[in-house]
Amino acid sequence: MSEVTWIRAPELAARAAGYEPVGVPWIGPEPTTCYLCGRPIRPGEMHSEAKLPSSFVDQPGAGWGGSHHLCGFCPLVFKRQGPDGAPLGNTLQKTNTLVCKDAIYPMNKNVHLVWFLLHTPEPPFAMCITTAKSQHLIWKAPVTLDHEAMQLQVGDSRLLIRRGFLFGQLIPAATRLGGALEKLLGRKRAPHPFASIRNNDAPVGAATMHPRIMEAVGDDPSLHEDLSVVMQATNGETWAMGLLLRQNAIEPETPDPLFTHDKKGDKQ
Ligand SMILES: [Zn+2]
Repeated sequence: MSEVTWIRAPELAARAAGYEPVGVPWIGPEPTTCYLCGRPIRPGEMHSEAKLPSSFVDQPGAGWGGSHHLCGFCPLVFKRQGPDGAPLGNTLQKTNTLVCKDAIYPMNKNVHLVWFLLHTPEPPFAMCITTAKSQHLIWKAPVTLDHEAMQLQVGDSRLLIRRGFLFGQLIPAATRLGGALEKLLGRKRAPHPFASIRNNDAPVGAATMHPRIMEAVGDDPSLHEDLSVVMQATNGETWAMGLLLRQNAIEPETPDPLFTHDKKGDKQ
């Protein structure tokens, strides 16, 4: 039986920054599982004992199958662990990041998030955005393998964005509804039908429709259709839409990578 597996975010980050796995070879005889990221550890692959700071013990999502082992990559994404792990672990803990196959980019500013949404890189990638101090998300961040099922870790929220739906359906429909609302209210506002969208606290992307939206839609059948499109949006898609549809548009800015295969955090 072939084993179904995929790359986890700590391995993606360590490989993007050019690190080799750390620890000692797992001698098996059966594969075990990484306590933090859930990566299978096969006989012969690097592993170490899971000795974790107490702050990790309570984390929801940790504790895969009662394992007491870490894969060769998770120690590298921790602060002060692994031979060269500190710069990588520090960065991933203190900075919002987009981890791609060959580079890790900062995602601390809205101009970078808009760049990501407009110029989404080829998968695989993982994104971690903190919503509170001392959130360490890389080990539980999902890895995106398909633009139509992008998954971003924003605090404890996991956002799903279907890129085709976002740009092909949601943004055009939201813009038309925003226009109808603007006409009704007689003043400029963000070109979408929401009164508020949660950006920084859970549940991220949850939004409240403008209280006068039904009045704005009236009996126009195409606006009713637009409204039903908007109702199908996930929290992730609403969150992304909120960044892309502003009264004063956010101009995208290409971020400089923090790490590549040849660059190990010298900007820290
Ligand atoms: Zn791991």
